[in-house]
Amino acid sequence: MPEMHPDSQHIIEENREFTMFSWSVQNQANPIHMTGGKGSHFFDGSGNAWLDMASQLVSINVGHQHPKILQAIKDQVDTMCFAGPGFATDVRAELGRKLSEVTGLAKSFFTLGGSEANENAMKMARLYTGRPKIITRYRSYHGATMGSMTASGDPRRWPVEPGVPGIVRVFDPYMYRPPLGMTAEQWEEGCISHIEEVIQMEGPHTIAAIMVEGITGSNGVLVPPDSYYPRLRALCDKYSILLITDEVMSGFGRTGTWLATQHYGIKPDIVTCAKGLTSGYMPLGAVIVNDKIADYFETHFLAGGLTYSGHPVSLAAAIANIKVYEEENIFEHVRELGVHLGQRLEAMKRKFACVGDVRYIGLFSVLELVKDKATKEPLAPFNGTSPEMGKLAAHLKSKHIYAMLRFNWAFVCPPLVITKEELDHGLDMYEEALALVDQMILG
Ligand code: PLP
Repeated sequence: MPEMHPDSQHIIEENREFTMFSWSVQNQANPIHMTGGKGSHFFDGSGNAWLDMASQLVSINVGHQHPKILQAIKDQVDTMCFAGPGFATDVRAELGRKLSEVTGLAKSFFTLGGSEANENAMKMARLYTGRPKIITRYRSYHGATMGSMTASGDPRRWPVEPGVPGIVRVFDPYMYRPPLGMTAEQWEEGCISHIEEVIQMEGPHTIAAIMVEGITGSNGVLVPPDSYYPRLRALCDKYSILLITDEVMSGFGRTGTWLATQHYGIKPDIVTCAKGLTSGYMPLGAVIVNDKIADYFETHFLAGGLTYSGHPVSLAAAIANIKVYEEENIFEHVRELGVHLGQRLEAMKRKFACVGDVRYIGLFSVLELVKDKATKEPLAPFNGTSPEMGKLAAHLKSKHIYAMLRFNWAFVCPPLVITKEELDHGLDMYEEALALVDQMILG
């Protein structure tokens, strides 16, 4: 239960004085002092319980402090805290086998998180195909290490431009705002056919892989049309280009399946994952490859490694986390509650002038906010914010609702264990905030 921490302000000050915060101008960092959590809530040093409608960084899928994962971590610490990456361990065998089972792929290479998983996926694709380039999409995020940051399409890549060589970007299945003046109907065709043209212009023999998020997350939950993945898969096959799906955010139950692509009936050649793999309880990512790539590396050198690849405590956390998903029927809950979430979001779109579009699948969703539904003028500019978005943020904060807000998007991505009552309370608070925004834009 939340309790007042006697020294909360001092702790925040020391955090700010001696440590650096991500993606921030340091003197503007304004961290909450987190002291604990349970289920869908976390606690702060002032004794408040916050409803975590963002699952931290869309990561703490099974909720805060799940006892079964805590116990598995403690047990592994007692048995064996560390083994170097060249050693065989029980947990490595068990998790590797399980990941093959749930993805239908062959072998896993373990990393510490999503950025490193994407670095290694791109490297393996280059080694396997002997081709230098990777196609990614503009509205994407693949991580903050040099290669993953360059592979990302969104503004977070700008500070490292030109970054690593060999990244070519294409447009996204953003059906609310199709590029090139197309209608949504035209873009459903164009969103794949323009990729083929890019492949031809670049030279298919120079392209190792197309890397896309399973479902684009922090760039606006872009749920693709049903035809997208089968056509992308066919395009990759036509030119012998590997399909890498980054399921760091969309995988492991977020959409109600192990992988988001399982909704579309296709199999990627390489999957990367992190976040929901351990629900963030321990740092872990994985690159999971198909049998052809696995076979290739049977007789070819895998040029890469990490001191903490296959860290036993992280692997034990992942095994326990996956058991929780299965034993507690969490994906079923996500699919059921996702229907309710979708209905509520659609009702919000009807009710509020500022809600231009809603996109959702499972418990992965966003409200796209506009100043005007007819013109679709965003409530905040691309890569910026606005007084209206500030108002929304301030209201949610005042109600101790922790939400992910970015540009003109308000995300709803709660822990997968959230109850209907908790979710409804959270959404009620979003509605209060949207009413305040409507007052601002309607005058
Ligand atoms: N890929 C996607 C789709 C992500 O959302 C993220 C993180 O938000 C990453 C990769 C990077 O993962 P990490 O922060 O674990 O390095």
